[in-house]
Amino acid sequence: MTRHAHQMQRHTVILREIEVLRVERLTPHMQRVVFGGDALRGFLSVSPDDHVKLFFPNREGRLVLPSLEQGRLEFPEGAEPSPMRDYTPRRYDDELNELTVDFVLHGDGPASAWAEQAAPGQRIGAGGPRGSFIVAEDFDHYVMIGDETALPAIGRWLDELPYGAHAVVLAEIPGSADRQPLSSRAEVDLSWFERDGIDPAGSQLLENALERLPELPGDSFWWIAAESGRARRMRQYLNEALGVPKEWVRATGYWKADGTVEEA
Ligand SMILES: Cc1cc2nc3c(=O)[nH]c(=O)nc-3n(C[C@H](O)[C@H](O)[C@H](O)COP(=O)(O)OP(=O)(O)OC[C@H]3O[C@@H](n4cnc5c(N)ncnc54)[C@H](O)[C@@H]3O)c2cc1C
Repeated sequence: MTRHAHQMQRHTVILREIEVLRVERLTPHMQRVVFGGDALRGFLSVSPDDHVKLFFPNREGRLVLPSLEQGRLEFPEGAEPSPMRDYTPRRYDDELNELTVDFVLHGDGPASAWAEQAAPGQRIGAGGPRGSFIVAEDFDHYVMIGDETALPAIGRWLDELPYGAHAVVLAEIPGSADRQPLSSRAEVDLSWFERDGIDPAGSQLLENALERLPELPGDSFWWIAAESGRARRMRQYLNEALGVPKEWVRATGYWKADGTVEEA
């Protein structure tokens, strides 16, 4: 059997209106929002790397949601569309029909602003996941590198890794109060890097830690999520300086310093 065979699964995209059930401030910069509602039933997310598109109220405070026309999102004419952003399904509990999403509060933008004021009973739109990238389960090590936007995916991945797996986590956060408990059955070497006022797009904390990382025996899968330029440079470092095969690296820009929205 081929070693390290990843899988890609496609899903039928479903657009839903979901309702806030409860809100919990996990850390100063992370707001957990738990959603429910009848439309959520049947929600499917099979990989920690999945994302949903969330649709927030527009500047008039109205939800103006698209419909799906031949696989494309079409917004109604004559109204400002709801802004949409990508978020990780941190957890979906099938029995309770509850979807947990952890929002970074970074101080700017419709998603962060909405999450900061979120309260039970409010509704937003959700679409997807439209596909899942399922990482091969036979690597010797899983190295997860990311800023605070990556913590929901990293937290979920650690939750789901089996006993006997080994993960190395390099996590960059605004400050020490933003550390959060992460549990796993796997063996996990976790290092926090606190920016303490350094600009998140210009920080080099993860890059420096990556360069100092001791060589790991066997094969490693490298998962990176951070500001777009940083994610790209870390991928280049792995592929070009260390010679890691392209298929063993998945690096995604989770946000862009120039303010344009990532289309994932
Ligand atoms: C696949 C995927 C999964 C993601 N999962 C999550 C998740 O689970 N939780 C989560 O919080 N985010 C997640 N993100 C990142 C999130 O989509 C972006 O941070 C998004 O830009 C936030 O939208 P906004 O409306 O708050 O800000 P925007 O309107 O997009 O941006 C406004 C301003 O804020 C800046 N900005 C945006 N994000 C950040 C940030 N994190 N830190 C500092 N400045 C920022 C922009 O450069 C811009 O100047 C994910 C992204 C992708 C692609």
